[in-house]
Amino acid sequence: MPRIDNDVKLDFKDVLLRPKRSTLKSRSEVDLLRSFTFRNSKQSYTGIPIIAANMDTVGTFEMANTLSKFSLFTAIHKHYTLEQWKEFAVSNPDCLPNVAASSGMGPNDFEKLTEILELFSGVRYICLDVANGYSEHFVEFVKDVRKKFPDHTIMAGNVVTGEMVEELILAGADIIKVGIGPGSVCTTRKKTGVGYPQLSAVIECADAAHGLDGHIISDGGCTCPGDVAKAFGAGADFVMLGGMFAGHTQCGGETIEKNGKMYKLFYGMSSETAMKRHTGGVADYRASEGKTVEVEFKGEVESTVRDILGGVRSTCTYVGAAKLKELSRRTTFIRVTQQLNTVFN
Ligand code: 5GP
Repeated sequence: MPRIDNDVKLDFKDVLLRPKRSTLKSRSEVDLLRSFTFRNSKQSYTGIPIIAANMDTVGTFEMANTLSKFSLFTAIHKHYTLEQWKEFAVSNPDCLPNVAASSGMGPNDFEKLTEILELFSGVRYICLDVANGYSEHFVEFVKDVRKKFPDHTIMAGNVVTGEMVEELILAGADIIKVGIGPGSVCTTRKKTGVGYPQLSAVIECADAAHGLDGHIISDGGCTCPGDVAKAFGAGADFVMLGGMFAGHTQCGGETIEKNGKMYKLFYGMSSETAMKRHTGGVADYRASEGKTVEVEFKGEVESTVRDILGGVRSTCTYVGAAKLKELSRRTTFIRVTQQLNTVFN
């Protein structure tokens, strides 16, 4: 007989943050920088823990260049050639501490990752990304990568439950990517019926990770700065964004003109668009389950970054957190049935 878990599980849209009395005068007083020391690599990080997703539209060198000026992080997608990496590393050495090199489980991927890490010692982060982080095979892969790169910081995922977070941390990962199905161009829930409401996944996975001195990334499902704040409030150490960074000058993907308006193509890493682009390279990465959308062109990503950081700073002042680090401790979520007044939508 199938089991039904009757505990309520929530998404960002189901809650709001309750304001709290505070002594903070202005959002300019809020410090968004965080410092972490990672459990397995023993390496340290300081920055604003927001990450551009390792999608070929968003996890670009151009994005890394801009985001690193704001102390944000970029997970570089896995489709760049070594030659392109070389060009980037030589002309932007300052960016290297703020990027990860990505890999799926395919042998070609891993070979390229190894070459990148051996050639560019400034790249200290590895992002191991598979659609389904629950396979034993993936756990073994994480162990192998840890053995080969004992002092690189390893991000690994995606999972949504505490027991798998623990298993991946014990296998050698430092930061676990949390999220199955919440992504803006993800169709996993539709295609498979599998998923987990993102806010609850983050709360539960953060608890599991922090118990082992590990860290988590809330990956996917943020639609606005308020959602980013909720993810941090729920206990995420990092928040990864795809859709919110899409449509900018710094993005990869075609630019399209329609009726005098500019759009940029944004697509899931296992969408047909991505598969066609990287024939043979995507099938083993994201088994299927992605779509393609046209995003209205938004110009330079700087203004979006400012909007997100301004929003999160403001959240901190509403709940009385002088530092981003204090946000989850100051968080009380209220369950709601309505968030926004839509009268003018
Ligand atoms: P967003 O911020 O756009 O809501 O979510 C970004 C995340 O969606 C990525 O970091 C990645 O985990 C996930 N994602 C990207 N492409 C695909 C895809 O084709 N299929 C699925 N299931 N997830 C995807």
